[in-house]
Amino acid sequence: MDRNICYIDMTAVLPKFPNSFRPCVDTWMEKLEKGILSPTHFKDHWRVWVPKIYSPEPNGSCLESTSDEETAKEVLFDTLERFICNGDPQEVLNRLSKINSPPSVCCRVFKVGDPTYSCRECGMDSTCVLCVDCFKQSAHRYHKYKMGTSVGGGCCDCGDTEAWKTEPFCDIHAVKPEATEEQVKLLPDDISERARITFTAVLKYTYDLLTMEHSPGLPADLCVKEVENDPLGLLDPSDTYCTVLFNDESHTFEQVINTLNRVIKCSQKDSIEFVTNVDREGRAVVKCSTFKHCSELKSDIEKFTSRHGNRPLKVLVVHAHVIAHQFYALKLLEWLQKILGHSEGFRALFSQVVLQSNSQDASIVEGILTRDSQLWKSARTHWHRLIIHGMLMEYESKKAFAQVFTKHYGSVLKDFMRDDHDHSFSIASMSVQVFTVPTLAHHLIAYDDALFKLLNTLMSECSRKCNSAGKLEFERNVPNGTFKRALYIIYDLRYLLSSVPTVWTDALRKGFLQGISWLFDLLTKMQGMDLVTRQVGQHMEYEPEWESAFNLHIKLSHVITLALEWCGTDRVVLIKAYRATLKKLYENPGIDMAHGLDVRELADHTVSCLQYDVSLQPISIHLPLSRFLAGLHVHMEKFGLNFCSSEFQNIPKPTPEQLIEPVLRTHVMIAQVHAGMWRRNGYSLLNQLYFYHNVKCRSEMLDRDIVLLQIGAALIESNEFLIHMLNKFNLLNWANPLFEQNALKNPEEDSMRQTISLVEEFLGLLIVIVGERHVPGVGQVTHDDRIKKEIIHQLCIKPLSHSELNKALPEDVNRETGMEHVIDSLADFKQPSKGSAKGVYELKSEFYDQYNVFFYHYSREEMSKSEEAQRKRKKAAGELECCPPPTLPPLTEAFVVMANVLQCDVMLHIVQIVLERSINLRARSFSEAQLHKVLHLVGFALHEEEKQHCQFMRFTERAEKWGIEKLIEELVSSARVEAHKHLLAWVLAKFRQVALKNHGVPINKPIEVQETSVQSETAAQEEKEWRAKMAAQKRAKIMAQMTAMQKNFMKENAKLFEATLSLSSQTSKLTGSSMDLSESYEETPVAVGAGQTAKLNVERAYTCILCQEDQTVREDGPALVLAAFVQQSTVLCQRRGGDVVEDASDPLFLPATLGPAPYTGTCGHVMHSHCWQKYFDNILAKESRRPYRSRQPSSFDVEKQEFLCPLCECLSNTVLPLLPPLGTLQTTSSAVSTLTFEAWLQAVKIALKYKRKIQSNTKKSQGKRSSPRLQSRDKSVEDISDVGVSESNPEIHSAEQLFYTCPIDQIGIELGENGQKFMEVVSSTVAPPPVLSANLSDMILLYSQAAYTKGLGVHPHVENSRVPLLAWESCAYTIHSIEYLLRELRKPLFGELSCRQQDCLERLVRLVGILPMSWNQYNAIISHALRLCSIVFDNSSDGPCLLDWDSFGVLVPLTLSLPSLLESEQALHIPTGGLQELYVLKVLFLGNVVKMMLTCDFSQGILPMDIDGEEAQCSVSSVMDLLAAVRKEAGLSMPSEDTNAQAVWLQMKEMSIPFLRCCALFFHFLTSIPAPACLMEVGGDTYENLCNYLGLPTTCEELMSSHVVKDLALQWCSHEKVKHCLSGASSIALARPTPAVNQLVSLPMDYSELINTVSMFTCPNSDHDDSRNPTMCLVCGEMLCSQSYCCQTELNGSFVGACMYHTHTCGAGACIFLRVRECEVLLLATPNRGCFMLPPYLDQYGETDQGLHRGNPLRLCPERYKKLHLLWLSHGIHEEIARALESSNSILATQWQHL
Ligand SMILES: [Zn+2]
Ligand SMILES: [Zn+2]
Ligand SMILES: [Zn+2]
Ligand SMILES: [Zn+2]
Ligand SMILES: [Zn+2]
Ligand SMILES: [Zn+2]
Ligand SMILES: [Zn+2]
Repeated sequence: MDRNICYIDMTAVLPKFPNSFRPCVDTWMEKLEKGILSPTHFKDHWRVWVPKIYSPEPNGSCLESTSDEETAKEVLFDTLERFICNGDPQEVLNRLSKINSPPSVCCRVFKVGDPTYSCRECGMDSTCVLCVDCFKQSAHRYHKYKMGTSVGGGCCDCGDTEAWKTEPFCDIHAVKPEATEEQVKLLPDDISERARITFTAVLKYTYDLLTMEHSPGLPADLCVKEVENDPLGLLDPSDTYCTVLFNDESHTFEQVINTLNRVIKCSQKDSIEFVTNVDREGRAVVKCSTFKHCSELKSDIEKFTSRHGNRPLKVLVVHAHVIAHQFYALKLLEWLQKILGHSEGFRALFSQVVLQSNSQDASIVEGILTRDSQLWKSARTHWHRLIIHGMLMEYESKKAFAQVFTKHYGSVLKDFMRDDHDHSFSIASMSVQVFTVPTLAHHLIAYDDALFKLLNTLMSECSRKCNSAGKLEFERNVPNGTFKRALYIIYDLRYLLSSVPTVWTDALRKGFLQGISWLFDLLTKMQGMDLVTRQVGQHMEYEPEWESAFNLHIKLSHVITLALEWCGTDRVVLIKAYRATLKKLYENPGIDMAHGLDVRELADHTVSCLQYDVSLQPISIHLPLSRFLAGLHVHMEKFGLNFCSSEFQNIPKPTPEQLIEPVLRTHVMIAQVHAGMWRRNGYSLLNQLYFYHNVKCRSEMLDRDIVLLQIGAALIESNEFLIHMLNKFNLLNWANPLFEQNALKNPEEDSMRQTISLVEEFLGLLIVIVGERHVPGVGQVTHDDRIKKEIIHQLCIKPLSHSELNKALPEDVNRETGMEHVIDSLADFKQPSKGSAKGVYELKSEFYDQYNVFFYHYSREEMSKSEEAQRKRKKAAGELECCPPPTLPPLTEAFVVMANVLQCDVMLHIVQIVLERSINLRARSFSEAQLHKVLHLVGFALHEEEKQHCQFMRFTERAEKWGIEKLIEELVSSARVEAHKHLLAWVLAKFRQVALKNHGVPINKPIEVQETSVQSETAAQEEKEWRAKMAAQKRAKIMAQMTAMQKNFMKENAKLFEATLSLSSQTSKLTGSSMDLSESYEETPVAVGAGQTAKLNVERAYTCILCQEDQTVREDGPALVLAAFVQQSTVLCQRRGGDVVEDASDPLFLPATLGPAPYTGTCGHVMHSHCWQKYFDNILAKESRRPYRSRQPSSFDVEKQEFLCPLCECLSNTVLPLLPPLGTLQTTSSAVSTLTFEAWLQAVKIALKYKRKIQSNTKKSQGKRSSPRLQSRDKSVEDISDVGVSESNPEIHSAEQLFYTCPIDQIGIELGENGQKFMEVVSSTVAPPPVLSANLSDMILLYSQAAYTKGLGVHPHVENSRVPLLAWESCAYTIHSIEYLLRELRKPLFGELSCRQQDCLERLVRLVGILPMSWNQYNAIISHALRLCSIVFDNSSDGPCLLDWDSFGVLVPLTLSLPSLLESEQALHIPTGGLQELYVLKVLFLGNVVKMMLTCDFSQGILPMDIDGEEAQCSVSSVMDLLAAVRKEAGLSMPSEDTNAQAVWLQMKEMSIPFLRCCALFFHFLTSIPAPACLMEVGGDTYENLCNYLGLPTTCEELMSSHVVKDLALQWCSHEKVKHCLSGASSIALARPTPAVNQLVSLPMDYSELINTVSMFTCPNSDHDDSRNPTMCLVCGEMLCSQSYCCQTELNGSFVGACMYHTHTCGAGACIFLRVRECEVLLLATPNRGCFMLPPYLDQYGETDQGLHRGNPLRLCPERYKKLHLLWLSHGIHEEIARALESSNSILATQWQHL
């Protein structure tokens, strides 16, 4: 049964139900009146009708929908609407819509990939987004916005007043003032009543069916009863079943496709479609048959897919009627959603219905929440959408939903964790809709235990991952997919906490604290996880797992930050949280706090220290509980609290020493790692430390640790604090004044080195503790100050672009760095200087003195880079070349004591011993870094004293006692610390200045820096010498590096290099030939015809790049070749689309559509042919050893003869041999012939008269120069007609059919009086043809084969007669291309050709010129000439017409083949611009002119003012004659009377220029006659100048007035096809004779326009479904569904993605695309290569956003797009891809063929 029959049968049934909807609507009404209407009555109706309409056909194709939508609408949906409305639904619903002003919220649900917009100024958080439509209508489009693409499932927040700080409504959803307050009756009561019943019935039915437990049959009340079973037997036999396939995430597309192929035995295409459906819908019916058959298939599929230990794919056998009902249920949900859109009243009703529950049954919403994971994808999304549209539009319903959702949160999430669908397909994803609404979130926390529920769910999952010590532990190789999914709860926590309350209620406090206590539990489980112990002896056996813990941390850190912010806004909450944290810390002191105490002493201070050896005992980097306390502590002061406040008195709490202990241990471990003591612990530890310090993690790690240590420094007496630290660092020994002496007794190098390093680390940590105060609560700073400090330090490294700077700053919960607020006050934005560079921020000079070289967020590399940059800057500014510490912000009350660390005894003791040991040249523990850091600390102390933020600072006074000043003074002159000379001077000066100010007495006379210089004059001398020596060494090293890099440089900068080369060779060429130039200066050069001027025949030598030997180009010498690349191209094509690839098997000439045709390019690097052969053989051997498919496809494909140029690595696939100028190969007589154009035409026609086909066997037997003509010379002319009888030989392709003609003498005879002149022309050759060396001939043939195989897409065939045609076509096409390119670049025709272009044209033109002579299929050349002549001169109606051919594309092959046809017996003649060539040129030029006359519009011709009309008019009258004649012949409208002949002629001249330019290029390289100076200038290529050079007449009369010209023109116009085309009957657009340069598609300026466009784009192969990777062809503008199975197509036996297939059809093998969602350019080359490039779109900071990660608004950069255009126009795609592949080192190979 097919669809058609089905339809007819249905209509046959219908009469049994007249007005089918009426009776049942009436029945329902009737029952309603009686008050007995129940959902059962609706079901009764559906029971009968649904299977009829929606049952799948047994054995039908399951891929085509067979349902009858019209009947469905009438019978199933209209009935419902009529019942609800009790009248015309359309009318009633419209009325309802009017009462309800349009809903004030949008709630549009996003599909995957839909564009979203967020406003960075107005959004409450980063989840607040707008859909395209709302965005375009909102005020935010003028704000700072971000673009993004949805992962699906979310919805538009437009109209939600809680989502936006300002402007919550777009123009569409703006609340209308009159509708706001007035509570209109939204639904009339009767409608409301009927709607309630209908909704109940519909929802109950859909819920029951979609959540049906899996039994193959239907619920009893939906079974079709026997009696109803249709008497006509139209219903499906009730035993039809379906095999239904469900999706899962564990099987690949590939696996399922293969399974279906085998089991269902369907085609690959159908399999792909099934799988695409399964993927999209979540399930698909793959078979409809008997229960037995379906069950067999089910078990087969399960068997197949359970191989390799996989879980089998889920397959069910379901009754066809069930499928039908479920299908209908989904439709009903869509219908309901539509109905709800009409009225708020409907939505309120809906909410009530779905929330209704009774004693036995839970409500429908609850049912959906708990059974969501059992549904398939589309069933889920249908419900989700309905809930969003029904419940989330109005606040009360939303709140109701939020409460139910929260209530069931635990089970919803547990289901989600066990499920394997993406989060966006789970109802769990609805959390973002409710938890992000601030008032709802607060309500849920306060009254619905939301925080508790979330954390509880998370904790129960975490408990499973705990080890015996109660800490979280993750193992490698243990599947933790469930745990990963559990982490989605953390996002929900973030949403819930995202809005920090401004007003607290008791309920909120209670709810929050109750929840947060679970957070403390979680943090306790993390505190001390992933312990590491220093490895001694042997290395770690395996790297421990560390990533999971950090992943958890990264996800959790925003929640922690938010929880801390919450705590920081309420005194009660803060106190309770602080107490709870202290308690937890007390209960969990970490690793055996119970250890004994050691008494330590230093500088007359004694302390009991906690015993713990970091180098021996386990340490953890995870201390979230300690850090949480630090986070709380900074809020204490604003509520008048401190550690010792009464609120914390009577609770068990750790001492300050115990508090800082874990953090201190971690820092000692880090110091030891830096000192090289943990080398054996492997990379796992290094990675952890990296992230600990990295911008992603440090906010809740490093930063908090420092605060905690600062708390310690403030709470513990300074001397004790330092002794604790020294003890933990194990440096008390070092601090002993006798250390140096003791060390001599134990001269262990290794431990001394470690000690030095640990001291440096210790001092570094001190600097951080004392100096890093830009944390609100520690220093008196604001949040902005903190960001400013980060930015200043980043910009002190170097100027940074916007994105680089953003990346270096920590992001807050909303993924913002806060940079925008402050950046303009700190830095100046420097616009990008050129199109490619990006703009950067440069720090304003006044901020440089805030630079702190030991800034704690610097990596070691950044530290040294910034120091270097700053020293350089200072040197340039003539300042002291050092970076003294910056002044510090004042500390808050709670931390002010901390400053005392700088002046306490232990500190001064440390300063003293470091200074002393620096002076003592024998001290082994000295290091420059120690001194530097100590000076830095002293500098801090001096600043502090100077500022007097803390009253107790009397550093200078105390330091005097320790003799610090004297020590510094002594050091200033020490040669040992040369590097810090300036810093010492600064410290000393500062010291004296501060001391003077505070004590009023100068302690010593100020020291001058000069003083030291006098003293150390000799030292300076020494230093100078030493520097000179170092410089010399450095130079030598650089030289060596340079040499090594030279080769690389050559490769990398090949183009640059080449450009300079080309420039120099160009000039040398000019100077070398200045003689010739000056000689011929008087006469302007003429390249063609009788007036030909002197040729420039210079012998040139080249150096082989492989063997480095010089070699002169000679026809008989060893051949030189250039690496070259031939590619099929459509770049010039004038027509694109389906019929571009027309039958190109007869490539006699280049068609007027310009392609596809082979393009030839070269990099111009010269090699010996034998050197190249050796090189190529080597590559072949190497490639064959390469493991098959081991990694990326290599950048070139040897199977396609590809290789890389050995010098510049340019992609190549053939070689172009070098030939001497053709003129030197054969001398021609200088006698000027007087053969007229007419006579010559006559000669050609005589030859054509005798044109005959050659028998196939004759052709085969023909070998070398023994042309058929030579044989036929023996025969009389009459006999010839008998030769061609091979017409019916099917073996020969029509294009390979050969022709021959009469001997040349015959033409001479028939020409009569002109015969003599003709013979003179054709036998003007006086020398025999040159003999080419064998390997030169081989190379010529090699190239020809390349053009042949690429041009036709065929295998090589040496003997094929079409070989020369493709070489000629490539020549014509390449010249066209270069002419285009020059035109586009506005470069002169000659003089500025790039080296590549120059080389390419010169070699190519000479090669094709000599090809007829070196190719052995001589008769084929004659045949080609004959065919071409036949087309041009006979122009018979069965052949191509004037409009079919490109004039230049005929000129090239005709010029090159004609000498072979019209040759004398004695010698072959190389075409070098003789009279014949001129006549060919003239004919085709005329052809071009006639074409213009036919296709161009001359009516707009405007006469330039300065031309003397009267006189000029008569000289151009012939143009009008010809124009009129031609247009009349072609049946076109005649030019109007007032058409100005002068204007027509001018227009004609102008339009002829491109053709003439091509000819000029061609004949220049063919004849080697230098181009006149005028053609080397821009704009010098006027019609006259070109004609002069080409030997063509310049006036209109000369060109057109002769009758032969007119005859020829009329003959062309009389061709049937010409008239056909011009009449517009042909669908093919006319190709213009002078086409404009092809451009890439024009792109919108604003990138969001593109994104919005593709959001509408649907996959062409699946019904209106959106495409995941919409990709635009930049050549033709077509949008494609890329990288998706749905759009794969077979190409040469394998399936390729839509883009790759398009590359084949649109670009003939190379194409250029824009991946719109990724915002990147894609280049592809068939069959499997490609690369990505930066897009031509820039944000306001001049940066691209490949991948669209940042989301800043983007604008088109025309310069970049132009570059891309030129890349395409110059045929650079293949090369670009090869270079990208060559330089790529990514391990993951992109499957380019699937894009
Ligand atoms: Zn919207
Ligand atoms: Zn809106
Ligand atoms: Zn805004
Ligand atoms: Zn060589
Ligand atoms: Zn090269
Ligand atoms: Zn598709
Ligand atoms: Zn295209």
